[in-house]
Amino acid sequence: MRNVYNFSPGPSMLPEEVLKKVQKDFLDYNGCGMSVIELSHRGKIFEEISLNAENLLRKLMNIPDNYEVLFLQGGAFLQFEAVPLNLLIKGKADYVVTGNFAKRAFEEAQKFGDIVCVASSKDKNFTYIPKLPQNIFRDGTDYVHITSNNTIFGTKYNSFPKTKAPLVCDMSSNILSEVMDVNQFGLIYAGAQKNIGPAGLTIVIIRKNLIENTTKNCPTMLKYSTQAKEKSLYNTPPCFSIYVAKLVFEWLTNFGGVKKMQEQNYYKAGLLYDCLDSSKFYKTSVVKEDRSIMNVPFTTPSVALDEKFVKESQNAGLMFLKGHRLVGGMRASIYNAMPVEGVKKLIQFMQAFELKNKVIV
Ligand code: PMP
Repeated sequence: MRNVYNFSPGPSMLPEEVLKKVQKDFLDYNGCGMSVIELSHRGKIFEEISLNAENLLRKLMNIPDNYEVLFLQGGAFLQFEAVPLNLLIKGKADYVVTGNFAKRAFEEAQKFGDIVCVASSKDKNFTYIPKLPQNIFRDGTDYVHITSNNTIFGTKYNSFPKTKAPLVCDMSSNILSEVMDVNQFGLIYAGAQKNIGPAGLTIVIIRKNLIENTTKNCPTMLKYSTQAKEKSLYNTPPCFSIYVAKLVFEWLTNFGGVKKMQEQNYYKAGLLYDCLDSSKFYKTSVVKEDRSIMNVPFTTPSVALDEKFVKESQNAGLMFLKGHRLVGGMRASIYNAMPVEGVKKLIQFMQAFELKNKVIV
């Protein structure tokens, strides 16, 4: 048993049983005499690993047959460019800016066409999700881009906008955390390093009809059509990350799937928000109905106490609780692999810290 809990926003905690399996397979994969990271990506063994990973993900997310699942590289950041380079056929797209990564995606896309930010929550430092009635979206766009969970600011969509154009979603920080209907989206992308596995793998789930056309200037390597045709083997894929992702998908399947995980995630987040709401010492500025169940930012009454909190929590084995520089304070990232006990231990620490320090305030 490891004796720390890792609250990092990503790369983040992985299930211990997955890490143990990785350790076992590392030297000799299933008795083949080779390490799992030494296997040719074109060989039978890796082919099976990759196929299993895809099939498990399809089952977990209930991905319909008219969607391709691609295992790519370059992180969500590369998708900020790949999405417009592939999909901007008419040259027009709408973006909703609900955080730093949404803003980066919007800014990147502006290089490629007529890109408009149709709604933003910047006026209140991204502490809420703006209302998105159908009439705020323009006609004749190629797609609408949203970010389902805002890792830095701790907000999430509870329902997705109904759009005429295909909905493209950066799901990096809450993929597989709750049940979502893939049919609502034209394209979903996510970096793996939160709910899926090690950094290096980027998952793209794309409706097949969106693959058929691509803008003329899209580089071959970035074309979804290239990757779909070559079954994500156009060049050497991130083999190790795909293998670990397969193990995480098995773990999640054995846990009972996404619905069961959703219940646990709401339970965990509920414990933490109850602790924050019942305290006069801690504050969280996110609007209640838009609170993320993956990333929970909070502050103490002063910057000095925030610093003390981070230092002392680390000494108590509660790692990486320092908030992002754009928000300050603390942030607890409680992805799928964070056990309930980890959240309970954090709450115990928070309550003890409050008792010890509230006289100073
Ligand atoms: N989008 C979101 C919502 C994120 O949380 C992150 C990473 N924290 C990114 C994009 C960037 O991902 P990557 O580092 O994989 O490019």
